Amino acid sequence: MTFSLFEGPGDEPSRFVGFAGNRVDRQAENRSETALADAMADPRLAVLILRGGRLCLKMNGAAPACRLTLDEAKELGARLDHAVLLGMDANGPLLAAPGSLEPEDLPDGLKAIDLRSLNSQGLLESEDLGAVGQGASLLAWNGNCRFCGKCGGRTEAKIGGYKRVCPECGTQHFPRTDPVVIMLTVTRERCLMGRSPHFAPGVFSTLAGFVEPGETIEDAVRRETFEESGVRIGRVAYHASQPWPFPHSLMIGCFGEALNEDLTPDFTELEACRWFDRAEVAAMLAGTHPDGLIVPPRAAIASHLIRAWLDDD
Ligand SMILES: [Zn+2]
Repeated sequence: MTFSLFEGPGDEPSRFVGFAGNRVDRQAENRSETALADAMADPRLAVLILRGGRLCLKMNGAAPACRLTLDEAKELGARLDHAVLLGMDANGPLLAAPGSLEPEDLPDGLKAIDLRSLNSQGLLESEDLGAVGQGASLLAWNGNCRFCGKCGGRTEAKIGGYKRVCPECGTQHFPRTDPVVIMLTVTRERCLMGRSPHFAPGVFSTLAGFVEPGETIEDAVRRETFEESGVRIGRVAYHASQPWPFPHSLMIGCFGEALNEDLTPDFTELEACRWFDRAEVAAMLAGTHPDGLIVPPRAAIASHLIRAWLDDD
């Protein structure tokens, strides 16, 4: 867990979490007022359609496919006037657009699947899932920023959805990403995990919380851990990050050094919080825990933090 730029592993841990495989060339330096229209005129264009936290998938091939043609998107009533430009991939330009149909109204061969299931069940290739996360976050921000926070005027999308401008007062608004710390609190022999009421049965996971204004990542790890468990944190080490499009967060995965092991859990947020030794965590990962306890699936950054700690024996 010791940081060393030149001696560390070549494979970034962030590469192995869900929503992290995005390889779209965002062409951020080349976004212009015509970028979206140019993309729409490109015959290679592909469109992702999202609505209500669900992605529209073509289910009639060997594997689910998320890229629709412009004609297919139009037939499905995609709101192309609200489309955002993700960038260029190997096949051409890629857009995301809000859908207009409820899942039950989609024609045969198409299905709307929620993003959490896409992630946990591995229904898409990693690169596609990453692009879907980008599109979901960008569409959500555009949808939530239709009015200027400064004067209340109606904003207009610019440069493919990467900026919104208020004609009333001239304020420019840019897409937001909300930082969340997610941390495995550890001693040499034990790690701390908690259980929220909304977790699936038997799941214990790392603690997490939003970074607040004016706060470092390290201080957010210390504050959130103490608030939720009563454990004071000393050293903090960054491990990996995960784009988390619900709606536009970045999970920042860290390890925290526990300075005390007595617990005073916050039972308004957690229904359980306790220490686990290495053997117990190994059993949870192997699915052999006597009480049926498990950790989150591999697509979650929490799983990677837990596995990295166990492997660092
Ligand atoms: Zn304004």
